Amino acid sequence: MDTAEGVIADVTSAVPGHTADPFGAGWWVRMCRELETLRAGLTGVARDSTVPLRDARLRPAALNPSKIIACASNYSAHVGEMMAVQERVAGGMEAWMAEFDVFLKAPSSVIGPGEAVLLPAAPLSEGREIHHECELALVIGKAGAHIPADRAVEHILGYTICLDITVRGPGDRSRRKSYDTFTPTGPWVVTRDEIADPHDLEITLEVDGEVRQRVSTSGMTVRIPEIVAQASACMTLLPGDLILTGAPPGVGQIFAGERLKASISGIGSMELTVAAAAGD
Ligand code: MN
Repeated sequence: MDTAEGVIADVTSAVPGHTADPFGAGWWVRMCRELETLRAGLTGVARDSTVPLRDARLRPAALNPSKIIACASNYSAHVGEMMAVQERVAGGMEAWMAEFDVFLKAPSSVIGPGEAVLLPAAPLSEGREIHHECELALVIGKAGAHIPADRAVEHILGYTICLDITVRGPGDRSRRKSYDTFTPTGPWVVTRDEIADPHDLEITLEVDGEVRQRVSTSGMTVRIPEIVAQASACMTLLPGDLILTGAPPGVGQIFAGERLKASISGIGSMELTVAAAAGD
């Protein structure tokens, strides 16, 4: 969507239990779970309450997810480039890092469009690199565990864009990728009926206008139905959970003062700034 021409509608009057308090996120979970039931009411309110998108402040496209699941090593060209990165930052890449896997990021790392990715001082003072990864993300609608791949689509509410900001070097992924602000999410959720083929989207990440990542989601090694199957085999997926489908190639360092623009065809784009975190 072109943000200069688009409109946005406030449909909160048709959302059961809505509150502006982010700790009351039960309404968001319920909306993810029951969208098909609520859709007619939301659509009715939306017709009467549109405002220009440029006049709205967008918030994160996910509210207090119970968990953020992310895929590691899901594009072969990214695994290849990580060999050189790991050689530089950790003296080599251990074999397990090149294998597909799922891991968790802290839900408190989510921010929205227009916000700042804050670079923590401690890892920078140790000489660590902090990188961008721009990924297609799934938002879960219907809960489930041990979901077979051929039923996975029934559990997907829709798609959004996530950055998986990462401190490189030794240490557990969950810590290196969970600093506050390390999961920008937005600009909105596109429901699954609006995306004909999630494996035919173009991901683009620009830093100060320079394209760093421009890759088709067709390059995923483990595809979305199988990701849902593997993730739900070890943890129950709940409405509103996010699943990041893995970094395409082109990852690289980010620095304070830069501007990031993350785009995925069929979804939209969001811009972020990068700044030094204060006080640590
Ligand atoms: Mn990632």
